[in-house]
Amino acid sequence: MLSCWLSRLCRGFSTPTGRITHPSRDSLSRTLVLSSQGRIPGEGTEGLCPLNEFSSFVARTNTCGELRSSHLGQEVTLCGWIQYRRQNIFLVLRDFHGLVQVVIPQEESAAAVRKILCEAPVESVVQVSGTVISRPPGQENPKMPTGEIEIKVKTAELLNSCKKLPFEVKDFVKKTEALRLQYRYLDLRSFQMQYNLRLRSQMVMKMREYLCNLHGFVDIETPTLFKRTPGGAKEFVIPSREPGKFYCLPQSPQQFKQLLMVGGLDRYFQVARCYRDEGSRPDRQPEFTQIDIEMSFVDQTGIQRLIEGLLQYSWPNDKDPLVVPFPSLTFAEALASYGTDKPDTRFGMKIIDISDVFRNTEVGFLQDALSKPQGTIKAICISEGTYLKRKDLESIRKFAADHFNQEVLPVFPKASRNWNSPVAQSILEEQGSELIRLMEIREDDVVLLTAGEHKKACSVLGKLRLECADLLEARGLVLRDPALFSFLWVVDFPLFLPKEENPGELESAHHPFTAPHPSDIQLLYTEPEKVRSLHYDLVLNGSEIGGGSIRIHDAELQRYILATLLKEDVKLLSHLLQALDFGAPPHGGIALGLDRLICLVTGAPSIRDVIAFPKSFRGHDLMSNAPDSLPPEELKPYHIQVSWPADSEAEKSSLNQPYCPES
Ligand code: ASP
Repeated sequence: MLSCWLSRLCRGFSTPTGRITHPSRDSLSRTLVLSSQGRIPGEGTEGLCPLNEFSSFVARTNTCGELRSSHLGQEVTLCGWIQYRRQNIFLVLRDFHGLVQVVIPQEESAAAVRKILCEAPVESVVQVSGTVISRPPGQENPKMPTGEIEIKVKTAELLNSCKKLPFEVKDFVKKTEALRLQYRYLDLRSFQMQYNLRLRSQMVMKMREYLCNLHGFVDIETPTLFKRTPGGAKEFVIPSREPGKFYCLPQSPQQFKQLLMVGGLDRYFQVARCYRDEGSRPDRQPEFTQIDIEMSFVDQTGIQRLIEGLLQYSWPNDKDPLVVPFPSLTFAEALASYGTDKPDTRFGMKIIDISDVFRNTEVGFLQDALSKPQGTIKAICISEGTYLKRKDLESIRKFAADHFNQEVLPVFPKASRNWNSPVAQSILEEQGSELIRLMEIREDDVVLLTAGEHKKACSVLGKLRLECADLLEARGLVLRDPALFSFLWVVDFPLFLPKEENPGELESAHHPFTAPHPSDIQLLYTEPEKVRSLHYDLVLNGSEIGGGSIRIHDAELQRYILATLLKEDVKLLSHLLQALDFGAPPHGGIALGLDRLICLVTGAPSIRDVIAFPKSFRGHDLMSNAPDSLPPEELKPYHIQVSWPADSEAEKSSLNQPYCPES
């Protein structure tokens, strides 16, 4: 029996001749030609469909964007939206693929066609049939991919007329994001949105191909109606018809993917929708998508190599190929050099510990810092920092004081700037040359110096490093090459962090299923806050785009961590603990944040620009007005009553009223 279903499954992976399909790099480059971020609006999205079968099964013979001189003389039928019309002589027709010029016939015999094409408002959708002809000499448009040809129309049909639009669909016309989201279906007609969504689809397709066809992963859907589970992000609650019982939307398929390992599905993957009720943050969405992966019998290196291969394979061909393996830093190194666990490694300006230079300093606040047990002095060297204006440095100091309660001192060790403070002058007299040597300071550099406890001093300098990069770029310097994709693994995270709301207690740095580092197991029972974990994050250009871990597969250890160290109610996880006891294999996994990854690859300003129907900053769907109120009768089956806050009269009376979008 086993060999029977297995061989049928394997045949599913095979070509008709019985050979396993391993698309070659070469065939892939022929089939995936993705253009760069800075697309010229109106250029279209040609090159995005591997086999060019854009017109199978439909009324058109060709797309607007594909016609060239090689099509001269061909009879074609096109369907598209009217982009604009010139003097009732030309009409430019648009589809996702591009623009094409249609000549409106002027002869008396074509009066009916002329009427349709001259009267249909812009953005109406029409079907035209005619011949591809070359443009008269001198009238070619080299800026338009179809600029050598035009369509001599024979018949035209108005498929649907367009009413007055809330905004012009053209990419170069600026519109507020609220308006774009309210009329998302119109916004999606822009070439930029078309490009972003099609590139996303292409990359996901390649990922599926890599995982399922090349590496035997199984694509499995897991439930989205789940229950509240301990640890991690806040979940959305869904009422049920049973009194007082609620589902929760999963923050990720974490438990299910581990249970699949127990079930022997030892290479799982899913393009998974996840939900987190975390309030608004600019680069977050309440619902978002992960490329979710889990494997049995794997270690950290195995997961890392898999992800590098996956990204290399699905990477757009018009970008420089990715170099693997990606570099790696430990959490402690990342914090010490960049002040964060997601360093932007596209530029230097690393944090340097200069405590030793100042052991005998006379400067009060430095002396003070060094006299404390954890006290340090740290600095970053801003190369070409003299391009910063005095007011920039003032705002940097204010930022450090307001947000971190930290004093930051700018010093110009080599520049002839004369507005150093007396403190900075005295530093230069005493320790200047040592500082210049240690930090390799050059003529136009500025040093930002701070003192205090290691983590705090690093965090503040980490933030200022990014702040300075923004300021310098605003002044015209290029620190971060827009074509550079700088991947980095961050490893050896602590297993626990002090709880934000109660620093005396511990919470998981990743999630409670993460395995402790084997060298630190004993510390679990003595100094758990010192235990490192088998958790790894993938960082791209300073954004976390993925994270995962090797999991605990021993029920006893999992129970100890949940109950004793994290003080969680283990009953809520009894299904998982029981499963671990029934021969769970060692396993580990990772999830890549697809929206953020695509956002970085396309260079989009926000993750909302790579999601077809995103929520607004406040978590609303501005198009449909979700979340929306329900009348009390509809809440009855769920045994729910709304207790309206005192100031919500307006909201209550807005039930069933037309909606007014947030601005
Ligand atoms: N489920 C985890 C997350 O969403 C990822 C993982 O550990 O695989 O962050």
